[in-house]
Amino acid sequence: MTKKVLVLGELRDGALRNVSFEAIAAGKKIAAGGQVIAVLIGDSVKSYSEDLIKYGADKVIAIEDEKLKHYTSDGFSQAFLAVTEKEKPQGIVFGHTALGKDLSPKIASKLNIGLISDVTAIEEEDGETVFIRPIYSGKAFEKKIISEGIVFVTVRPNNIDPLPKDEGRTGEVNGLAVEIKDLRTIIKEVVRKASEGVDLSEAKVIIAGGRGVKSSEGFEPLKELADVLGGAVGASRGACDADYCDYSLQIGQTGKVVTPDLYIACGISGAIQHMAGMSNSKVIVAINKDPEANIFNVADYGIVGDLFEVVPLLTDEFRKL
Ligand code: FAD
Repeated sequence: MTKKVLVLGELRDGALRNVSFEAIAAGKKIAAGGQVIAVLIGDSVKSYSEDLIKYGADKVIAIEDEKLKHYTSDGFSQAFLAVTEKEKPQGIVFGHTALGKDLSPKIASKLNIGLISDVTAIEEEDGETVFIRPIYSGKAFEKKIISEGIVFVTVRPNNIDPLPKDEGRTGEVNGLAVEIKDLRTIIKEVVRKASEGVDLSEAKVIIAGGRGVKSSEGFEPLKELADVLGGAVGASRGACDADYCDYSLQIGQTGKVVTPDLYIACGISGAIQHMAGMSNSKVIVAINKDPEANIFNVADYGIVGDLFEVVPLLTDEFRKL
């Protein structure tokens, strides 16, 4: 039987999130030659279909309704379940984002199926599709399979490579009319914190500051380096607790889990709870005054020195490239 896999296309600030393209690549592996259908949910979302197709979706189903302008688990689950009812998929893939983490358990429980969350890699072993996910705060990985029923997974951003964009690719785009009823939550207004620069969870480069930055002004050299490298600024909980920066920047067990290509930790000691959020970064650079700091145990490159001297030097050098 040809497999059919639904992939949620996620939007943020009027653009598709990269993880949607990564989810399509994951969907292709699960579909094993079958069909990948991207699902778009919102008030006016059809216009995003083209990119989903260029990144590998075979078809797009868009559910548009004024009541779906803002995400609510109630509204989005009604919309998504209408698609599962219609398409009867063998697989479902969401991004492991705030939205995906909120919506996926609700969908799984409504469909009475299992869910493998936070998948970082997908492999084929003896004809089975095997999902790999971190456990024990990233210290170990487990391999899981779903042997029967719908294969439902969420994929961690920045881990599964999207397929190359094919500008010439075309596919069907259909609307699906769904009556969204009895919403228990109605969002009247979204008040955003001013977000600066690149989204932390999808950033390819992160410059993170710890208690060693000593003040909110101490983050300025880090922001400059992030600007030069086109990256985002993150932080340890130590820096957040000390009020040097907002908790939205916190990386770690109780903060965001990130997997950038380059993570530069500045004045961060490397507590286990911090490493839970960044140890899978592809290249880790640590800058710390203390040569015994634990962060050097996970670092690919370590610089023992004062971050206020080292970071501006790096910024100057990268500016020359
Ligand atoms: P510190 O441990 O104080 O380290 C500061 C470092 O800066 C030191 O290594 C010092 O040598 C260095 N330094 C100082 N000045 C300079 C300088 N001028 N140049 C270079 N280096 C300098 N932490 C997280 O980060 N994320 C989490 O999600 C998280 N969740 C937690 C959950 C629980 C349940 C608990 C109990 C703790 C959690 N923590 C978390 C806290 C964690 O245990 C650490 O306390 C915290 O990570 C320490 O932050 P830090 O490395 O910035 O500070």
